[in-house]
Amino acid sequence: KQGLSKTQSSLVGRVDSLLRGRTEIDEELLEDLEEVLITADLGMKTTQHLIQALETRLAAGRLTDPEQVRELLKAELKKILALESRPVDFSSASPFVMMVVGVNGVGKTTTIGKLANQLSRAGHKVVLGAGDTFRAAAAEQLEVWGKRAGVEVIRHAEGADPAAVAFDAAKAAVARKADILLLDTAGRLHTKVNLMEELKKVRRVLDREISGAPHEILLVLDATTGQNALTQARMFHEAVGLGGIALTKLDGTAKGGIVVAIAAELNVPVRYVGIGEKLDDLRPFDADMFVSALFE
Ligand code: GDP
Repeated sequence: KQGLSKTQSSLVGRVDSLLRGRTEIDEELLEDLEEVLITADLGMKTTQHLIQALETRLAAGRLTDPEQVRELLKAELKKILALESRPVDFSSASPFVMMVVGVNGVGKTTTIGKLANQLSRAGHKVVLGAGDTFRAAAAEQLEVWGKRAGVEVIRHAEGADPAAVAFDAAKAAVARKADILLLDTAGRLHTKVNLMEELKKVRRVLDREISGAPHEILLVLDATTGQNALTQARMFHEAVGLGGIALTKLDGTAKGGIVVAIAAELNVPVRYVGIGEKLDDLRPFDADMFVSALFE
């Protein structure tokens, strides 16, 4: 629950203060609730789904107690999220290739570093590929994380062809008999079309070197950006197809509801959540725990 306190205080705090002192449920209350849910970034689709579920019960005379509203919201959110929380099966290929994508600043490098550390500590042999050759210091930063995690980093000079890095990283992963290759990629958004073409090329190169690779394309999103995160998810999903999502900076936002919006609208599982800047601050996403943290 640690690190989720802001998310918790926002959504639930507001639902609670809305329900406090109420003895009956009416349309006006549901309207206020709708606003709270939208402000918490649950998204239109999910909000409407939840409000409709409540309205149906209200009309049938089966919604009388404010406590029932909390319970119903909780159950519905768990249902939505449970469909979309699955861990990555790293043993399904060897080497398992994960290509990590996302816009600059979302926490991509940090997430790769945390993941490399966890996987390596769990006994996997991990290789990192520094595929962001565009941003100055991206490779250096990845190397720092690599050292911390005790894993090898394949890098080229700044400005080199990212597809060439992908090629070398794939070759190295096979040669070293690595279990997992985590490949960083560029995240410059100002040349969006170029970036998406570059990512597609990287994906092709990986598949040519290791059949079926990348086995997962993981999108890193910054939870504090709210609806922008959803826009980014749509964009990357359309361009390269996403296998999963890592949502960072949940410790710094009152907008944890974006998790629900992404799961409901894109059908892409949230794999990990970032809850801080330190090595251990990456957790597997657990729908039950997440909703409980929101409501307890
Ligand atoms: P990149 O440009 O996407 O590679 O982003 P970085 O990995 O360099 O991260 C950008 C900033 O976000 C850094 O200051 C990180 O420490 C910070 N950051 C990353 N993940 C988290 C997180 O889960 N919580 C918090 N509070 N900060 C994070």
